[in-house]
Amino acid sequence: MSSRASVVVVGAGPAGLGAAHELVKSDVPVVVLEQDDRVGGICRTVHGDGYHVDIGGHRFITKMDDVLDTWQSLLGDDLLLRERMTRIFYRGRLMAYPLQIGSTFTTLGLADSMLAVFSYLGARLRPLPDDSFENWVSNRFGKRVFEHFFKTYTEKVWGTPCAELSADWAAQRIRSLSMWQAIKDALHGALQSDIESEDESLLHQFYYPRFGPGMLFEAYADAIEAGSGEVLAEREVVRIVHEDGRVREVITTGPHGEERHEGESFLSSMPLADLPGVMDPPPPAEVLEAASGLRHRSFLTAALLLDEPCTLPDTWIYVHEPSVQMGRVQNYLNWSPEMVEGDGRSCIAAEYFAWQGDELWSADDEEIIDLGRRELHQLGLIAPDTFVDATVVRIPNAYPIYDPGYLERINTIRAWVESLENLQTIGRSGQHRYINLDFAIVTGVQAARNTRGGDHDTWLVGTEEEYLEERPS
Ligand SMILES: Cc1cc2nc3c(=O)[nH]c(=O)nc-3n(C[C@H](O)[C@H](O)[C@H](O)COP(=O)(O)OP(=O)(O)OC[C@H]3O[C@@H](n4cnc5c(N)ncnc54)[C@H](O)[C@@H]3O)c2cc1C
Repeated sequence: MSSRASVVVVGAGPAGLGAAHELVKSDVPVVVLEQDDRVGGICRTVHGDGYHVDIGGHRFITKMDDVLDTWQSLLGDDLLLRERMTRIFYRGRLMAYPLQIGSTFTTLGLADSMLAVFSYLGARLRPLPDDSFENWVSNRFGKRVFEHFFKTYTEKVWGTPCAELSADWAAQRIRSLSMWQAIKDALHGALQSDIESEDESLLHQFYYPRFGPGMLFEAYADAIEAGSGEVLAEREVVRIVHEDGRVREVITTGPHGEERHEGESFLSSMPLADLPGVMDPPPPAEVLEAASGLRHRSFLTAALLLDEPCTLPDTWIYVHEPSVQMGRVQNYLNWSPEMVEGDGRSCIAAEYFAWQGDELWSADDEEIIDLGRRELHQLGLIAPDTFVDATVVRIPNAYPIYDPGYLERINTIRAWVESLENLQTIGRSGQHRYINLDFAIVTGVQAARNTRGGDHDTWLVGTEEEYLEERPS
């Protein structure tokens, strides 16, 4: 099958589906091409036998009313409002999160707590240049707090020493937190006060589709297909053919053979790092070189179905503990009571960060499941032999990396892409930008409007907003 549509969209994740959904509102013929066998991208739900796996745990939070209205109109009562409960596992104990002064002092002990306060005062008096993640955080929280509460987890996530990570990421994600406020609260005896941003309701509650995040994106796809659009799965885009400054068609391969998809406008949510490599004819060498320098951190989930209820109150746990490789634990029943079928069972996931092709990434599923089982038991979170089924999910392009030079690389690719008048890149990997799903959707929506005469700069989406979370999602 080949197609001819007004707009061709690469990728059926939040950005691509958000774009197509916007276009069908105006009856614009649109085709979405997805390499996977299901929609949702990183937000898809993976179905085990009697349980549902959410890759990374997706909180649906947004400050944009039109985005929330769309989610509610697509899911109705199946969009649940849930309470968040999160803790940090560190030094053999579970600590409140966001950090509370009382439990932080208890975990660190008096001596370490005093050292943390002195190192904070020292950092205020003699700040370091704000040229790395490590310096940026140490300048604002002190070296000790950086070492206890940022270093281990951040290095697990990014696989890179914090001194080599760009300060941009910290500035984007941590800017609303204040150590000074925490200390002031402690001095005034407000020991329960949190270190957190002001918009607390969005931190404590989130929306969640009844059967996991993929449910919402399946609803987007249904709405697109009920209108003027098509969503074609198992179509990997392998060539984007252009001439005279315009894209002409996209070539896909898959179980359906090679297909051609022609259109007037093209939106791509495939990784910006991969895009130049599929352009036909190829872009100049410096664009290909820039693309080869853009890196992602990958992500693995080992979800274990347990034949017993889980008593943990947490939705998820950040694992700062250096003695295990695991970065986070998910407790899916606390995301939605319908993530596991039947009574008396639960599903716990051990989450890992990896480089594509490294030892962990290349381990077979049984080894990864065994690692998850052993580490969850080591932390005292599960009994040794309670799991009855397991699912492993690997996500290759989970986290766009902000390393030195990434911005120049993006700008080199972007300048060339923008020389093609009918191609726009959208979404998280599509723009190699660390954005959450609501902003990914909005890049798609705005790009869709641009194909109808709009004039949005999709690269500005999310840059003006206060971020709510200091942990990677
Ligand atoms: C572990 C983790 C936890 C997260 N938690 C949250 C959270 O709690 N809240 C939140 O708001 N956000 C969260 N996010 C971010 C959220 O997942 C992303 O913002 C969102 O998925 C980005 O959507 P997208 O459409 O841009 O990209 P993706 O979801 O990556 O979708 C891109 C799609 O393009 C397809 N594709 C790629 N190449 C090709 C090709 N050549 N041909 C055809 N198709 C192709 C892919 O298969 C994929 O389906 C989390 C992310 C991670 C990694």
